[in-house]
Amino acid sequence: MSYSIPLFKLNFGIEEIQAVTETINSKWISTGPKCEELQRDFADMLNVKYAISVSNCTDSLHLACILCSIGPGDEVLCPSLTFVASVNCIRYVGAKPVFCDIVGPDHLNIDPEEIKRKITSRTKAIIVVHMAGFPAKMDEIMSIARKYKLKVIEDACHGPLSEYKEHKLGTIGDVASFSFFSNKNISTGEGGMLVTNNEEMAKRALLLRSHGMTSMSYERATGHATSYDVVELGYNFRMDDIRASIAIAQLKKLRKDLEKRAEVRARYVRLLSDISGLIVPFADNKEFVSNYIMPVVLKNSTSEKRDHVRNKLGDLGIQTSVHYPAIHKFSVYKDFNVSLPKTEYVCANEITLPMYASLSDKQIDFIVDSLNSALKNE
Ligand SMILES: *Cc1c(COP(=O)(O)O)cnc(C)c1O
Repeated sequence: MSYSIPLFKLNFGIEEIQAVTETINSKWISTGPKCEELQRDFADMLNVKYAISVSNCTDSLHLACILCSIGPGDEVLCPSLTFVASVNCIRYVGAKPVFCDIVGPDHLNIDPEEIKRKITSRTKAIIVVHMAGFPAKMDEIMSIARKYKLKVIEDACHGPLSEYKEHKLGTIGDVASFSFFSNKNISTGEGGMLVTNNEEMAKRALLLRSHGMTSMSYERATGHATSYDVVELGYNFRMDDIRASIAIAQLKKLRKDLEKRAEVRARYVRLLSDISGLIVPFADNKEFVSNYIMPVVLKNSTSEKRDHVRNKLGDLGIQTSVHYPAIHKFSVYKDFNVSLPKTEYVCANEITLPMYASLSDKQIDFIVDSLNSALKNE
């Protein structure tokens, strides 16, 4: 089915095509000068010391778990209302995810009170996801982390340039991961970035990103190194220069794209506040954020009702989605018996509305009107 209003639109143009062409013409297409340039741009943009380009955010989260020395016997506190990669990474290193509930339908991020309740002597770290680009309660989370000596990994996939009290998301915890998957705020198809202010972590991430090798092929090709040693069991988590050049072009557009998104959200929030059967999560947020997605939660609802409403919107050409099915309900997590009532309610009753910079006022009005009548007729 093709929708007249899709959920997301790629912000691509001639800039990305030119960037790729230039990189291909340079004859160096794997990890090299474009990755270096992107890393500098990204670190400057976030005001963070180190940015390391990687193959995707999933690999970056895996790396982050290794950098935090998480391993078998350790527990890691995490949300269930997120993409499965935020939690799978804990299992890649042999540790146990301990799911925490969210604050509520008006704040979809991990609840610091749940974190406190679920800390044990085995707890090693907290994985925080900033849903839709809205900051989690970082002051509370960081003070718990300091008190119990826990590492904090930020899954900042949704939040490039999002702010929290003078800081950019992804620069508050020990290490953070960003995604450049097609539908993210910065799109390269596949790709990601690991950021940290910790020099030791950054050095080790560089090694592990490329097989634990002490030099890179670009350095050898340009005569800066002739041989190498392998000092750790590493991986191939590298980004290539073709994708990096797309990301450099995307970064240049990011601020403007997000400013447009903020206008789209402001109109949505104003119109949606007239609908009584709805909760708009993070409606009280005053910070500049990425607005990666536009979630709403139906009040006094069921998943059947939510699915009906989504179908009606679909029939009108409006594409919607659900962020997310709860991870603890997936088959591969069936042994993790846990009850998370707030997460479960949101998973059953959330609808993600279209969100992109070029969404027009008329389209937003149409989406809200359609949602309103779909709800009235339920
Ligand atoms: C997209 C996403 C990921 C995975 O990113 P990839 O780059 O596709 O590996 C992880 N966590 C969250 C919250 C995401 O939205």
